[in-house]
Amino acid sequence: MPERIYNFSAGPAVLPEQVLRQAAIDIVNFQNKGMGLIEMSHRSKEFMAVAEECEQLTCELLGVPAGYKVLFLQGGASSQFFMIPMNLLKKDQVATYLNTGTWSKKAIKEAKLFGRIEVAYSSEDLNFTRVPRDDEYTVNPASEYLYFVSNNTIFGTQFQEMPGKDAMLISDMSSDIFSRPIDVSRFGLIYAGAQKNMGPAGVTVVIIREDLLERVDEAVPTMLKYKTHAKDDSMFNTPPCFAVYCVGRVMHWLKELGGVEAMADRNRKKAGILYEAIDSTDFYRGHAERESRSLMNVTFTLADKELEAAFIRDAAAQGFDGLKGHRSVGGCRASIYNAFPMEGVEKLVDFMAAFAKKHQ
Ligand SMILES: *Cc1c(COP(=O)(O)O)cnc(C)c1O
Repeated sequence: MPERIYNFSAGPAVLPEQVLRQAAIDIVNFQNKGMGLIEMSHRSKEFMAVAEECEQLTCELLGVPAGYKVLFLQGGASSQFFMIPMNLLKKDQVATYLNTGTWSKKAIKEAKLFGRIEVAYSSEDLNFTRVPRDDEYTVNPASEYLYFVSNNTIFGTQFQEMPGKDAMLISDMSSDIFSRPIDVSRFGLIYAGAQKNMGPAGVTVVIIREDLLERVDEAVPTMLKYKTHAKDDSMFNTPPCFAVYCVGRVMHWLKELGGVEAMADRNRKKAGILYEAIDSTDFYRGHAERESRSLMNVTFTLADKELEAAFIRDAAAQGFDGLKGHRSVGGCRASIYNAFPMEGVEKLVDFMAAFAKKHQ
């Protein structure tokens, strides 16, 4: 095996090689201090600078306007399923959710513990092959917010446009944050676990509108209030130092490449090549409806299910790892996040053509 193979894992996922190589150095001796980054106090001026830069680059790259706070939290993206309603919803208040996959379903279950949840749209009957257009659902005007998952990692669907509803948006962007430009001002809260598109597991980025910080009931435990972390710039307790550092390095890399606009271009090209390979033959079948296709997670099956195991095995033997689809969809999934190289997609497409030819 070569030192680095093509890693299509859905998460934790591929990171830019230059970030990994720098991290390997910094973990032993950071900025010539004679100690590694993860051995330092989180209150040291070195780490404080790392954390500040990470926050500043997040704001710069995403165009976070004034009046928002960026937080670096723990507990994974899954803890946001309950933290959001716990902080923003009272028992008798309404929130609207769109059910477009496993992650929204889990968020709905948790939110029901805290308020009146209305599910305005669900594609569950279709095995989550699509996300809705604006004209396919309505939002109760009494809703405190409209919650949706911008990219459904498992099913390979994505909102091409953010919902155009007159409601405060809240979105789980775990698997497509920093993949394209967004208008943050339309959102009350955006969050993402780092391990898909911006770093290693261990940190969750939350971007929250500042006026929402005060909504929380005082009975909520200190660690679970957003305002606790906002007040102390995510240093109320020890932050996940290494994960925050890595996210910062990934931001640097992203900025060097031209930011989220350049990344969106690259992502369109990469996914375009792969979908074309799927569409150009009856041998492969895309899982998602065309208008809902994800640029991050490309899900497909083989027309002949019997061949899927051989496809995944042969691919692995040629250095394409992590192509097995999630058990709820079956088939294959190629996760091609920001850091996944174009060259890897081109080579996979060649492999797919050769495999189809051999077995047709
Ligand atoms: C992976 C994922 C999650 C869960 O993340 P954890 O950090 O493991 O809790 C939630 N939402 C989406 C969209 C994901 O892709």
